[in-house]
Amino acid sequence: MSRPTERLADRAGADADIGSSAATGARERVVRLAETVTVTRTEDGLRLFRGVDSLRIKGPADALLVAANQLRAGISWVELMDRPSRSPMRQMERRLRSIGWIVEHDRDHGAGTSTERQVGYLTLFGADAVTMQRRLDSARVGVLGVGAVGSVLAQHLVGSGVRRLWLVDHDRVALNNLNRQFLAGRSDVGGAKTAVAARALRRLAPSLQVHRVDRQIRAAEELDALPANLDLLAIAADTPWDIVSIAWEWARPRGVPICVAAVGLGTGYWGPLLVPGLGHCWGCFERLRQAELTGPDALAEFDQGEATPYSFGPANTVVSALLAHEAVRYLASGECGVLNERRIIRFAENRMSYFSGSHCTCGASQDSVASMASPHTSHTSAPLEDR
Ligand SMILES: [Zn+2]
Repeated sequence: MSRPTERLADRAGADADIGSSAATGARERVVRLAETVTVTRTEDGLRLFRGVDSLRIKGPADALLVAANQLRAGISWVELMDRPSRSPMRQMERRLRSIGWIVEHDRDHGAGTSTERQVGYLTLFGADAVTMQRRLDSARVGVLGVGAVGSVLAQHLVGSGVRRLWLVDHDRVALNNLNRQFLAGRSDVGGAKTAVAARALRRLAPSLQVHRVDRQIRAAEELDALPANLDLLAIAADTPWDIVSIAWEWARPRGVPICVAAVGLGTGYWGPLLVPGLGHCWGCFERLRQAELTGPDALAEFDQGEATPYSFGPANTVVSALLAHEAVRYLASGECGVLNERRIIRFAENRMSYFSGSHCTCGASQDSVASMASPHTSHTSAPLEDR
């Protein structure tokens, strides 16, 4: 199991404010299909879908469908084991379990809470949705920059169950922020962004512990106001221009993962999410990325120059929410789609491209060794519809 998962698992269940399932162990063990799996009968068996994945099971369709429906309803482990090992039910259960499509958690876990509809969704990221929800409930996240990107991210973090946030910003809400920063309203103009965001987020979750750090960050030591045991530090600020380097300099020795997103004119990116223990390195990521920029990618480069004064709410929300999707998935499961990887979207062409970093070769990463170096890959654009 990867280090981030272990790290996150340490705190799982520390302070869940969702319905406790501590009694689950004492109850009868029940196995069933993950909530996100759907089943369709075909001529020669069944076809099962989960998200964009599908699985074909060949055999007598009627018998398989009965077995699938019983699995969907849930079957006790004892009853399952009573069936012959080669029965359709047992065979299907083994196959589905091997790919993580079988779950054993309480179907109504979290009932009556704001995240009750999310627990089933989390089965897209792994079999143990309850543990993943507990990780979210107990996660500690820093958001550096509570502007366009940070406010959308913070909103989704809290929506997903995160209850410990550190918000870092020195700026105040301006009238022209209100086209994209929806944690603030007209009456908040002039207020500190951290205070305005904290107030709005507490309306979502009264139990939220939100810590404000009202300062501009120009050097790594200025981040010492943050706890060293954060599960994730999101960099959602665009000044100073080397803010990601500064944040990584603080985060790497403390083992704190970071993630990044930014929005430009007609374009934006989310990722990478870098985990210090996995040989990731911001310096190496940037060096390689800039060395490989060609054609439209080079033209679209906007994060090293002056930040654009122009903004468009929908573009901002989309890119920030895509970062939030990956950040929440990482906090829940230790995995995500932008580990050491960046996704870039260009709205006019409706195209997305991505860039993968290599392992650290500069020696800055503590676990960087020659044998870990893997060939990087850079990919050309593909139409968004195909993803
Ligand atoms: Zn490096």
